[in-house]
Amino acid sequence: TPAPLWLFADQLGPHIHGADHNVDREVVLVESRSALRRRAGHRQKAHLLLSGMRHLDDELGDRSAYLRADGYREALRELGRPVVVHEPSSRSAHDFVHRLVDEGLVAEVLPNPTFALSRADFEEWAGTNRRFVMENFYRSQRRRFSVLMDGDQPVGGSWNLDADNREPPPKRRRELGVPQPWWPTEDEIDDRVRADLDDLDVDWSGQDGPRLFAVTADEADRALRTFVDQRLDTFGPYEDAVMAADWPMSHSLLSVPLNLSLLDPLVVVHAAEQAYRDGASTLASTEGFIRQILGWREYVWHLYWHFDTDYVDRNELDAHTPLPDWFTQLDADAVTARCLSDALRGVRERGWVHHIPRLMILGSHALQRGYDPAELTRWFTANFVDGYEWVMPVNVVGMSQHADGGLMATKPYTSGGAYLNRMTDHCRDCDFDPKVRVGDDACPFTAGYWAFTHRHRDRLAANQRTRRAVSSMDRLADLEPLLEQEAHRETF
Ligand code: FAD
Repeated sequence: TPAPLWLFADQLGPHIHGADHNVDREVVLVESRSALRRRAGHRQKAHLLLSGMRHLDDELGDRSAYLRADGYREALRELGRPVVVHEPSSRSAHDFVHRLVDEGLVAEVLPNPTFALSRADFEEWAGTNRRFVMENFYRSQRRRFSVLMDGDQPVGGSWNLDADNREPPPKRRRELGVPQPWWPTEDEIDDRVRADLDDLDVDWSGQDGPRLFAVTADEADRALRTFVDQRLDTFGPYEDAVMAADWPMSHSLLSVPLNLSLLDPLVVVHAAEQAYRDGASTLASTEGFIRQILGWREYVWHLYWHFDTDYVDRNELDAHTPLPDWFTQLDADAVTARCLSDALRGVRERGWVHHIPRLMILGSHALQRGYDPAELTRWFTANFVDGYEWVMPVNVVGMSQHADGGLMATKPYTSGGAYLNRMTDHCRDCDFDPKVRVGDDACPFTAGYWAFTHRHRDRLAANQRTRRAVSSMDRLADLEPLLEQEAHRETF
C-alpha cells in the first residue's frame, strides 16, 4: 500500500486528497494541541481550522485517521508508518517537515499544490530581478493560464480596468443593497469544536461568534457560486468603498476557503470568467476580481518565498512605536474615530474586515503612528481569520508599512481624512472632522498624514509619486501646532 498522506489544516481540498497520485492513500489529519496553543490568536480562526479538519475527516470516513496529540511529531510516531506530505505554507513548517524527513517520519515531500503557478515557474519568471511590479506578473499569469484572453491580447483590449472600479459608497443608503453572500449553517461538528475550544486553557483574541465562512469543499463551492452568480457584478465598482452598516459589501468572503485550500484558485478564476462570458458580470468587475486571485494572491505567495528570510524584519522607515494596548486588545470602544473603531470592532467580532479597512484604516493608522512593522505583522497574523504566515510579510511589511523601502510598492499607502470621507460613510457620524487639522476635532488621519509626511519628508520628496505631498505640507500655515498636537495625541 502507498504511504499515507498527511494533510495540514490548510490543505483540505479535493484537488489535493483526490489528486491521481493521492487518491489511493490513506489520509492522516493531526490536531496538535501545541500548534493550537502556539498560534492562539483569534478564537474564530481556531474554530475554522478545527471545523475544517474534522469535517474532512467525517467526509472521508474510513479513508482517514484523525489523530489528536500534543504535537505533530508525537502523532506521526504513534501512527508508526512514514507519511508523504505536501510542502507546507510557511518557512517554519517547511523546515520542520524536512527535519521529520531526517527522522524518518516523513518519506517524501510533494510540491505545494495550492497555487496556480509553481514555485519553479515563478523563479524562472523572476529571474535575477530585485524589484517587482505586480502588473507585469499579473499579465504573465493571464497569458500563461489563458484567462480573459483573445488570442494573445486581453479581452476588451485592456489589461487593467481599475479606473472603472473606484466608486465611493452610494449616498443616502446605509447598505450597498446587493444579494447576501452564502452563509454557513453550523452543525454538530461545530458544536463540538466550540465546546472543545471552551475547554482549552488558551487566551484567544477576539470574540466567539457564529461561523461565517466555508470550511468544506461543498460549502466553498456554494459560496463561490453565490458570489459569481449574484455578487461579482457589483464587486468591482465598490471594492474600494467602506460602509459602516454593511461589512461584507460585495466582497467574495472566499479568502478563508481559499487559504484552507478548499478551492483551487484556477477554478475560482474560471468561474468568474464564465460569469462574464454569460453576461452575469461586467468585464471591469470580473477583471478586478480575477486580478485579486490570479494576480495579488499568487504574487504575495511567491514573494514570501522569493524574498530573503530577513524580509519580515525590514524596518526601512525606522518605526519603533510599540502597539498600544487598546490596539492589541481590539478595544474598539476606546477609539473615537468611527473608521478606526469600526475596523477594530470588526476584527474583534469576526476576525475579518475587507481590504480597504486593512490597508487604508488599520494599516494607514499604524504607518502614520510609526508602529513596529514586525509587531504589526504578528498582530495581523494572529487576529485575522484568513491570516497565515505566508500572506503577511508582503501585505504588511511591504504594501502596508513600506518597511521594505519600496521593493513591493512604489509609495507608502496612507491618506488624510479627505480620502476616508470620500470612500467611506464613517465621517458623517464621527466626532472628528476630516477637514480639521488642529484642535479638539482634528481628524487623526488628516493630522497624522501631515505628521507622517513631515517625519519622512526627505524620502517622500525624493520620490516622484509623493513629492507633491511635501510641497503641500510646506504651504500649511499651521504645521507647527499640528506637529506639537500629534506628538502628544492620546485620543484617536
Ligand atoms: P475579495 O475582496 O473578494 O478578494 C478576492 C480574493 O483575492 C481574496 O479572497 C484573496 O484570496 C485574494 N486577495 C486579494 N488581495 C490579496 C492580497 N493582497 N493578498 C492575498 N490575497 C489577496 N488576505 C488573506 O488572505 N489573509 C490575510 O491575512 C490578509 N491580510 C492582509 C493584511 C493587510 C494589511 C492587507 C492590506 C491585505 C491583507 N489581505 C489578506 C488581502 C485582502 O485584504 C484579503 O484577502 C481580503 O480582504 C479577503 O476578503 P475576501 O475573500 O472577501 O476578498
